[in-house]
Amino acid sequence: MPTDFVFSRKPIRIERGDDVYLYAEDGTQYLDVGASYACVPVGHGHPDVVEAVQSQVADLTFVQGSYPTTARDDLYESLAAVAPPGLDNVWLCNSGTEANEAALKFARSATGGEKIVATKRGFHGRTMGALSATWKPKYRQPFEPLLADVEFVDYGDGEAMREAVDDDTAAVILEPVQGEGGVNPGTVEFLSAAREATGDHDAALVFDEVQTGLGRTGTFWACEAAGVVPDVVTTAKGLANGLPMGATLCADWVAEDAGPHGSTFSGGPAVSAAAATTLDVLVTADLPGNAADVGDYLVDRLSDLPVRDVRGEGLLVGVEVGRQANRVLRDLALEHQILALPAGRTVVRLLPPLTMRREHADAVADAIEATLQVSEA
Ligand SMILES: *Cc1c(COP(=O)(O)O)cnc(C)c1O
Repeated sequence: MPTDFVFSRKPIRIERGDDVYLYAEDGTQYLDVGASYACVPVGHGHPDVVEAVQSQVADLTFVQGSYPTTARDDLYESLAAVAPPGLDNVWLCNSGTEANEAALKFARSATGGEKIVATKRGFHGRTMGALSATWKPKYRQPFEPLLADVEFVDYGDGEAMREAVDDDTAAVILEPVQGEGGVNPGTVEFLSAAREATGDHDAALVFDEVQTGLGRTGTFWACEAAGVVPDVVTTAKGLANGLPMGATLCADWVAEDAGPHGSTFSGGPAVSAAAATTLDVLVTADLPGNAADVGDYLVDRLSDLPVRDVRGEGLLVGVEVGRQANRVLRDLALEHQILALPAGRTVVRLLPPLTMRREHADAVADAIEATLQVSEA
């Protein structure tokens, strides 16, 4: 059989999804607490999203962005309505890395600066610009040289952040809670230091909320909880509940000089309909509120287990289990029918659909406890 040469293949063939569950070819039901990297916030196959996409595909699947369409305009409006204060200039694209790529370009063009300040353990995507701001040497090294002028500071070190930002800095880019890097929540002090430093030097503060946004951390954006408003927020992953879409939300001063950027598929009607409906469901069902409630409950349950650390915000949770993380993930999948994710080599990462309920959280905590007992036996 011809195979993909980039992804590793898992021994489970998925055929169907329904809310928090995935179903394999042989009928086995799996609880999906990875949501394929936070990509289905309102649950697999949400009927409103399915219906919106089906009718939009039938009416008009695609027309290029210079022709206004109702689907695209509705999405602009929905995104502006949920955007952090002042960030109501919306650029639509197809993925997280593209949303960040655009953010870095807009910041350079608006400031005239070249330098990018990013954080150690940060992850921003795999195209050349976003990869330049991504820390992990394994992802970077085979593709070097990347953008030259990027400085990485320790995540959480406000003093280092203040020292790194200068008058040639175009942007500081960081995740308010690091996802790939091990689920590390940023402190209010650190995020405020980044806000202050960029403000002092007229640089753009970019919050990459590709993983943390859309209610995942218990508020609509993770930066809301910290009370810090950046100049740019990027989002993607769950934005269209599993169809490819990203967005870059900018303050007026950043959006002003963005002219020569573009993308063929920006805001295609079918994907826009999926995204607008996803946002509507998130707000109407108060899924950020559910993420806060079930997330707190889950962390509480997990904190009773013999693990090194449990951390996170809302339904972005990391369980530090040491070097056995891969074994725990495999046992969760094959023995307990629970699909979770790693974050680095030592952390089990949970980022389920935001429709998850407490009974699912109990099942996850019980199963993780059982996999840990195996290792002690
Ligand atoms: C996944 C992710 C990206 C990259 O998104 P893609 O859609 O895979 O390009 C960027 N930033 C963060 C924080 C992410 O979690």
